[in-house]
Amino acid sequence: MDGYLTTQAVLATGNAGKLREMAALLAPIGLRLIAQGELGISAAPETGVTFIENALQKARHASRSAKLPAIADDSGLVVPALGGAPGVYSARYAGDDATDAENNRKLIGSLAATGNRAAWFHCALVFIERPDDPAPVLATGTWRGRIIDQSRGEGGFGYDPHFLIPHLDRTSAELAPEEKNALSHRGQAVAALLTQLGERGWR
Ligand code: IMP
Repeated sequence: MDGYLTTQAVLATGNAGKLREMAALLAPIGLRLIAQGELGISAAPETGVTFIENALQKARHASRSAKLPAIADDSGLVVPALGGAPGVYSARYAGDDATDAENNRKLIGSLAATGNRAAWFHCALVFIERPDDPAPVLATGTWRGRIIDQSRGEGGFGYDPHFLIPHLDRTSAELAPEEKNALSHRGQAVAALLTQLGERGWR
């Protein structure tokens, strides 16, 4: 691993909540995570047209700057009736500094004329051992639901209050955090990543 530590990885996020969540999930396999912000590393520009490209960009940037293995994720909402929007622009659908409420208002407005309310959340997770790792570990998760006009629930974040899980008749904002993690795109992607890291001998 010339020069790269194998028991630590940098997490390409400035989000303290994500660090806590991922650190807890990865601690059992002996991987200690450090947030890139703690190392003074700024966010990478996200210029990809797919979640996986953005996750790779973020991971490479973090790994190169920290000289450590890196983990990065990228996620968002995909709505087929809107041609896949908001997609990789989910966080900034209604503008660069848009709030969740503004993004949700734009989503509901854009869907007003359509009966097709199908949607899914997608999460792409990437682990690389080094910036030029030729074989990144890639894991994805998809969570299918429907968009409803009326917001329901106080939990979660982002588009959760409008994302209905039909077989539960609850939105993702109405789920307890453990329930959401067990079903969500992010939970699925983390589980898939753990399996693959295990196959690479990381546990
Ligand atoms: P990021 O991967 O943290 O950059 O998330 C991108 C955006 O996708 C977020 O700002 C949310 O708008 C949306 N998003 C991603 N995951 C979720 C989720 O679990 N619930 C609701 N919105 C989400």
